[in-house]
Amino acid sequence: MSKFMNEKYCRLEAYTPGEQPQDKKYIKLNTNESPYPPSQGVLDAVNTDAVSLLNLYPDPECKNLRRTIAEQYTVEEKNVFVGNGSDDILNFAFMAFCGKDSPAAFPDISYGFYKVYAELHAIPFTEIPLNGKLEVCVRDYIGINKNIFIANPNAPTGLTLSLDDISRICESNKNNIVVIDEAYVDFGAESSVNLTKKFDNLITVMTYSKSRSMAGARLGFAIANEEIIKDLEKIKYSTNPYSINRLTNLAGIAALKDNSYYVENCKKIIEAREYTKVELQKLGFELTDSKSNFIFTKNSNIDGEMLYKKLKEKGILVRHFSKDRIKDYVRITVGTKEQMDALLAAIKTVI
Ligand code: PMP
Repeated sequence: MSKFMNEKYCRLEAYTPGEQPQDKKYIKLNTNESPYPPSQGVLDAVNTDAVSLLNLYPDPECKNLRRTIAEQYTVEEKNVFVGNGSDDILNFAFMAFCGKDSPAAFPDISYGFYKVYAELHAIPFTEIPLNGKLEVCVRDYIGINKNIFIANPNAPTGLTLSLDDISRICESNKNNIVVIDEAYVDFGAESSVNLTKKFDNLITVMTYSKSRSMAGARLGFAIANEEIIKDLEKIKYSTNPYSINRLTNLAGIAALKDNSYYVENCKKIIEAREYTKVELQKLGFELTDSKSNFIFTKNSNIDGEMLYKKLKEKGILVRHFSKDRIKDYVRITVGTKEQMDALLAAIKTVI
């Protein structure tokens, strides 16, 4: 750290993203990307005509993109916010709605960025422990008077909450916002989008990075009450109004028009997930009932870190977290059936 670093950030512990190695080709099952490329419509949209307009700034309002998202989710354009990845939107939500007198709360085991954003903005926060089965315990969130951030399905467990649970949380915390981070919703959870019409404190956040095969384009969106969207816009226009570049804008519109392609891919990923779960169980692995595009698993014969290292040596990248409660586990992104067969073969030799 240089001597110039602002004192308030000196002790900040930044988020550690999953490895994106450039040294050799791995079977990459570590950052929950889709194994499938973007749809043909996306490839066609990002063409030389589009590239040749890069001398011009993009539309800061992203009107066409927001209209397309609004149509797909049967909400209005004014209920849609788009950001440079859902990370940006989560960050803005912490900035816009949390503060010294409006603390945040999230599960102790969840997406690691929630804690980083809270610390970045000096927001007091409570980490609410998952129960012994690694589930979010809904009653711990009832009437807690804090701004709540929950991933549904949760990461890295893949476990889900019902819409009934989410309604109870929103209903009992009317003076606070409830952010439901639906990065993985398309792999088997129910979306809370329609509840945003009922609860003016609910923000549903989604991403193009997982089910829509566009992690490299950086695009996420939030759906909420109009006033909430305006608050998020205020933060965006106070940081970077042009956060969605021209190419991503076009790709985002095209991807939604090719929805059936992505629905088909999700089906294949879900099938590969359920197949892999059964095969891992045959090998003595314990796992959560993940409804996401990853599997969270452990085996009493090998610790999580060792399994991660051995698989890496064999050219397969998975993710290991050193946090105490989950250090025995690895998180494995679900790829194609062929990738999962290669993973299973490697695991057999390791254990
Ligand atoms: N939420 C969760 C739960 C995630 O796992 C991720 C991916 N790391 C994100 C949000 C951020 O996704 P992105 O910024 O790529 O949209």
